[in-house]
Amino acid sequence: MSKNKQDILLLSLNEIKDFLLSNGEKAFRAKQIYEWLWTKPVSDFNDMTNLSKNLRYLLADKFTLNAVKVENMQISKDKTIKLAFKLHDGMLVEGVLIPSENRTTACISSQVGCSLACEFCATAKMGFCRNLTAGEIYHQVVQIMNISKEKYNLPLSNIVLMGMGEPLLNYENVLKATEMISSEKGLAMSPQRITLSTAGLPRMIKKLADDNVKFNLAISLHSANNKKRSELMPVNRHNSLEDLSEAIVYFNDKTGTRVTFEYLLLGGINDSLADAKELAEYCKQFPIKINIIEYNSTNDARFVRASNENFDQFVTFLKSRNMVVNVRRSRGMDIAAACGQLAGKKKK
Ligand code: SAH
Repeated sequence: MSKNKQDILLLSLNEIKDFLLSNGEKAFRAKQIYEWLWTKPVSDFNDMTNLSKNLRYLLADKFTLNAVKVENMQISKDKTIKLAFKLHDGMLVEGVLIPSENRTTACISSQVGCSLACEFCATAKMGFCRNLTAGEIYHQVVQIMNISKEKYNLPLSNIVLMGMGEPLLNYENVLKATEMISSEKGLAMSPQRITLSTAGLPRMIKKLADDNVKFNLAISLHSANNKKRSELMPVNRHNSLEDLSEAIVYFNDKTGTRVTFEYLLLGGINDSLADAKELAEYCKQFPIKINIIEYNSTNDARFVRASNENFDQFVTFLKSRNMVVNVRRSRGMDIAAACGQLAGKKKK
């Protein structure tokens, strides 16, 4: 029996209530337990101090509580904090707290490793291990929120699903976690403060539109040329730029929200004026915002950061075409917490 304990974080409030009633406990305890799980989370049933010892014992006997624990914390000179979270099975994922002038952002992971094999990404080198549960995704936010309060006395303002993994390949759990984050029963954060970043899976982008999600969508484009994009991101081989644009138009029509492209500038690869022109041409099909991202080294000799000249030329060209362009400078470089540098090590 005990080997097949269920993760209590997968239960709804009503399911907890039913469990309590069928075990001779009072229904109102369900709300207390739910609060310990979602609003002021603890990682051990023993810490649920307003429950009787017997009830805590019963819960521990019947359920596991697969919360995430902070295994390691590194603080950058620029205040960025990188966290390694240990999961119940010993695996690690990373999350980042990024305080900046006008926002405090939590970057969280959706999978242990990733299956998409983007050439420039450190997580890709780990391969894919497993999906995170909704509870594990949610609890990274809670932990980062607490650390933000403790260290800097700052509330979280934004959440980005830009850590390890491809969120749209863990669709159900990611959606459940975002719902809890925005629910009154959870963290009550507006979905407009959440951004999901995907390598671009057209079918799943259409599903997001059909499910009428309220959070923001970012797509890692990195090239508007099929041949180049397929070399950088193998996912493009079976999900061409044409399929992607069709999905973006669909998403935009259904949700009325503008998608963001992330475009990583790799020196000598996708940073020429011709690349910028191709990008501008591609973007004519839909309303779009573009974030230009600096490449962060993952110690792969094939890639270098774009030169300052190319960087400026690229951005200036897009702006001259009246495109909405933001430049995202690297944060947390001294602790390898920047985009694409997150890679937990599997524990034995
Ligand atoms: N799988 C999702 C989310 C995780 S990656 C996605 O692909 O969007 C988050 C962002 O970091 C993506 O835009 C990704 O392309 C970018 N990234 C990956 N490696 C990087 C690197 N070495 N330097 C800068 N950005 C990188």
